[in-house]
Amino acid sequence: MSSSEPAPADVAAQMRRRLRTYFAMVFGGLAALVALIVLAGVVGHLAFGDDKGAGRAISVVGGAGFLGYMAFAWWSVFHYLRCPACSRLVAMQVSWQYSILSGLASPECRGCGALLFDSAGSRRFRRVLFFVMGIAFALGVVGAVLSMSMRKHHAAPAPVAHHEGAAPAPDATP
Ligand SMILES: [Zn+2]
Repeated sequence: MSSSEPAPADVAAQMRRRLRTYFAMVFGGLAALVALIVLAGVVGHLAFGDDKGAGRAISVVGGAGFLGYMAFAWWSVFHYLRCPACSRLVAMQVSWQYSILSGLASPECRGCGALLFDSAGSRRFRRVLFFVMGIAFALGVVGAVLSMSMRKHHAAPAPVAHHEGAAPAPDATP
């Protein structure tokens, strides 16, 4: 990469492509996770014939899916949020750039000084980003309402599943 330095405009365009791919992966993964959890609830309900079955399926699939998604999102940060010119990790600069304090953030890579965010592109991208975040938020609300309405059928709350080995029981004496 260092042998043929790309033009500044190219770096910004590449950075935008990387960000687009990153957010598409992260929000697409989130949508897939929500869809998977809803599907698990439906399948669990059909398989066990009651809401308890649905709740069990949701907690198993949701728990495993959430852990997998967190790992995937973490990997995506390190894979995509890098400077196209020098491959330096610029995740912090990205989060600054797309926060309300973006005016204070440097649009240049701290490693090589390449312009990562040209202002016109960033503004347009920020609008798209807020739109996508709105969709993700709406999906989250739908998921929360669905899981709450399923739980409301039971007067007594079901006991929380034990997580063996996660934390020692308070009364456990060796
Ligand atoms: Zn750089």
